[in-house]
Amino acid sequence: ATMNTFAPADFSFLEEGFCARDIVEQKINEMSMSDDKDAFYVCDLSDVLKKHMRWARAMPRVTPFYAVKCNDSRTVVTTLASLGAGFDCASKTEIQIVQSLGVDASRIIYANPCKQVSQIKYASAHGVQMMTFDSDVELMKVARCHDNAKLVLRIATDDSKAVCQLSVKFGATMKACRGLLERAKELGLDVIGVSFHVGSGCTDPDTYSQAISDARCVFDMGAEVGFNMTLLDIGGGFPGSEDTKLKFEEITAVINPALDKYFPADSKIRIIAEPGRYYVASAYTLAVNVIAKKVIMNEQSASDEDDDWTSDRTLMYYVNDGVYGSFNCILYDHAHPLPTLHKKPKPDERMYPSSIWGPTCDGLDRIAEVCTLPDMQVGEWLLFENMGAYTVAASSTFNGFQKPDIYYIMSRTAWQCIQQICAQGMPTPVEDASCVTASCGHESSLELPAKSSQTCVL
Ligand SMILES: *Cc1c(COP(=O)(O)O)cnc(C)c1O
Repeated sequence: ATMNTFAPADFSFLEEGFCARDIVEQKINEMSMSDDKDAFYVCDLSDVLKKHMRWARAMPRVTPFYAVKCNDSRTVVTTLASLGAGFDCASKTEIQIVQSLGVDASRIIYANPCKQVSQIKYASAHGVQMMTFDSDVELMKVARCHDNAKLVLRIATDDSKAVCQLSVKFGATMKACRGLLERAKELGLDVIGVSFHVGSGCTDPDTYSQAISDARCVFDMGAEVGFNMTLLDIGGGFPGSEDTKLKFEEITAVINPALDKYFPADSKIRIIAEPGRYYVASAYTLAVNVIAKKVIMNEQSASDEDDDWTSDRTLMYYVNDGVYGSFNCILYDHAHPLPTLHKKPKPDERMYPSSIWGPTCDGLDRIAEVCTLPDMQVGEWLLFENMGAYTVAASSTFNGFQKPDIYYIMSRTAWQCIQQICAQGMPTPVEDASCVTASCGHESSLELPAKSSQTCVL
């Protein structure tokens, strides 16, 4: 009932027929006369809405709790709050961000199995009850510091096929679970369910079904120990862009039958997930400016001049964001971002083997070791799509290079759709949302984004 108090404020409306790419263009034009060509982001909140509708269609039984660590933008968090999502917070500050926007404590899970005592006390004082654990030490801390904790036992998964592994650090083994449940019982604690995380960038959907079946075992153990478990949390790991091997719907096609088998709808188990990357990756486009350039001539190739496949030169481009900034995802998130050209190349334009470097004085600050680019000049732009996840969230200002500005945009139909969901909740079935069926039909399509208008095509 309090949901309709949320409204993201700091965005501009995208007029009909325009897309995020047009706004990138507009910002670049605005800066063309100035020397200040700082890197910047455009974040399309319509894309976040589109992801939410897609989630509800693909996994109607599962409520998303957005993992704030992935991108803690207040605008994104507010948008998701108005859509009725919950939040996975891992620290006091993340809890503060979410609660400062008016989100009720019942919509927060403190999903960090290893918490500082003072932060457990903070959660307790601010009504946050759901929290994960995977050790007996954590149980003792919670027993001392939190009167009403609703504990969720995080179990380990086989994340050997994930891009970023998490079970090296978190998750109780199947063997350890019974002991932990018994210990919780002795301490008078309430264990309400089980969680897992298959690793970020999951490449094998069977990891989910295995983990769901393991969770069932732990539910049964819990019943034997005397707990009435009611919550299953299937974590994150879902892809956030279309350039991954495994598509979102290929994963949900495996998860749904596993849920129906081990946690059938009539079992009255509440199922949540903690998607991070899924919601934000594709909403953000980063534009960086070429601030310096070097041409390295290759000596031996004078005779190869007609050969298209060898080049007499290699180009080095230096741009104004790098691995200490947005591109920290290369180090921490195992990402391999590749640029798209801002200026469409001419059909016969010569391309060169090139490398792209960030602005700091560190040799580690390299964005791309080899890619193929035309001969660009200082002052030209390169674009990086799908840059919303694990980018701004972990960037620094090392060497004095500031973080890029972020321009938020949203289409009017998306805004109306969010208002409608905010006021009335998600329609059932999801296809009944007037914004899906009528005006923003193209926005809810599962096709690759940015194909809806001619101006969007590179
Ligand atoms: C990082 C994290 C997430 C989000 O993972 P994604 O792969 O971005 O979906 C969810 N839950 C927990 C506990 C995490 O640590």
